[in-house]
Parts: sequence; structure tokens; C-alpha cells
Amino acid sequence: MHPSAAATSAATEDAREEAIRVTDLHKSFGSVEVLKGVSLTANKGDVVAIIGGSGSGKSTMLRCINFLETPSSGQIVIGGEEIAMRADGTAANRRQIERIRTRLAMVFQQFNLWTHRTLLENIIEVPVHVLKTPRAEAVTRARELLARVGMAEKEDAFPAFLSGGQQQRAAIARALAVDPSAMLFDEPTSALDPELVGEVLTVIRDLAAEGRTMLLVTHEMKFAREVANHVVYLFKGRIEEQGPPAEVFENPKSERLKQFLSSVS
Ligand code: ADP
Ligand code: MG
Repeated sequence: MHPSAAATSAATEDAREEAIRVTDLHKSFGSVEVLKGVSLTANKGDVVAIIGGSGSGKSTMLRCINFLETPSSGQIVIGGEEIAMRADGTAANRRQIERIRTRLAMVFQQFNLWTHRTLLENIIEVPVHVLKTPRAEAVTRARELLARVGMAEKEDAFPAFLSGGQQQRAAIARALAVDPSAMLFDEPTSALDPELVGEVLTVIRDLAAEGRTMLLVTHEMKFAREVANHVVYLFKGRIEEQGPPAEVFENPKSERLKQFLSSVS
């Protein structure tokens, strides 16, 4: 049965399999409420772009979804599995969170590769040590993934010797190594020099084209318009407007969204 959530991404009306469902998510830091009841659903294969001004809560939302931050309240369901939360929002079951994290690979603005490890070591770390994949198998898979992001020659390189674009492509390969059911991208190109943005967007575009489910926080509006099938505009911790890219970008209803779009274009 399709969830009855009010804010379904609803890329199509048929009952496609649900990947991520967030309902009435709240998050406060001290007395400051940063997320004020966010609800969204991504079905399998959806690419949901999340846009909004700096400080609107985009990163916090992604980080709550995989429990890098502790939600204050709300419900999070990943692949049909509800994450059990205590009243204070912490996960009731650490094992469950670890398992969910390997299903939701996150790619950060600052790449977050382990600097003292080669690319190959970065990529096999979680498969070998968390998922207990046999090392030889993990290495074979890591090499395939490096080739896929155009980094086949760099498996023994340390991150510091690579460009930002190369590091981010390696970070994407690392995210793919756990065979995630969905990927969370938090402004994956905003730390890059302009000439390196394209090579990373190309990798993300290919992942979208092969039907990967993703939540993509981005300030690349042209790219969001191209790859997303649903766009969510966050304003001060609330979803101000959402819809298909053609509507959100070409026929925005909210004045705030209109202003935001004219400020970024
Ligand atoms: P965005 O990614 O949209 O720029 P963030 O989610 O990073 O926004 O931040 C939303 C708000 O929450 C900002 O006002 C930010 O200062 C605040 N915030 C984020 N993380 C923390 C934290 N760990 N402690 C206190 N405040 C935070
Ligand atoms: Mg952010």
C-alpha cells in the first residue's frame, strides 16, 4: 500500500516501492528549532533535489535521516523499516542505525576521505570491516568502482595528492561500495573549483540515469532541474514549496521561492 504521507514526492501515482519516508521531522539545537516539521517521501529511483538558502536546514535534514544528528522528533522509515527512536530522538537500537547507515551512503561537501589511507583502502574499509565482505572480493569491487568514476589509475594514491574533483569522485566510489539503497548528497560540488564541478556532476548524472535513489542537496539549479524528478524548497526549516522541476523552477508559487531562484540564477 502506498503511504498516506501528505508530502509524498509522487513522481508517479502508481505504488512504486518506497525508499525513504520522513514524517514531521523536528530538530532543535538547544533552544533553536532548525527543522520545524519536514515530511517527504522518496520512492525507489527518485532523485529528489533539496534547495534552499544557507541555514535553511538542508544539511541537518540529511544528517537526521541517517542519524548523524539526533532528530528531536518525527518518524524515519528506510526501505519499509522504521527506525526505532526514543523520546529524546536517539536511536533505540545502535545495530539498526549501523545497518541503516550502510544502506544510505552519504557524500559530503568536503569529501571526508580518510587522509592517511589510499583510495583503495578508503573504499574497502566499510565493506571489509563493517559488512564483513571478504577482502579479495571488496578489492575487486573497489577497482570496478574506481574505474567507473574514472579513477582506475589512482587506487594507491592518497587523497592529498588528488584534485578536489578526483577526491569527490573517489568519495562517490566509496559510497557505492556498500551497494546503498539510496544516496544522500550534501552539496557535493560546492567545495570544488568551477572547472572541476562538471566531472563530479557527470558521475552523479550517470547514477541518476541508472535509477539510483537519491536525495541531493545542491545549489546547482540547472543540474537539479535536469536530474531531479522532484524538487523540495526549504525555507527556515520548513518545506515552503515542492513539486516537479518544471513547476518549481518555471512556475514557482511562493514569493520566497521566486526570490530565492532569482538570487541564485
Ligand atoms: P543548510 O545546510 O541549509 O545551510 P544547516 O542544516 O547546516 O543549513 O543549518 C541550519 C541551521 O542550524 C543553521 O542556523 C545552523 O547554524 C544551525 N546548526 C546546524 N548544525 C548545528 C549544530 N551542530 N549546533 C548548533 N546549530 C547548528
Ligand atoms: Mg548545508
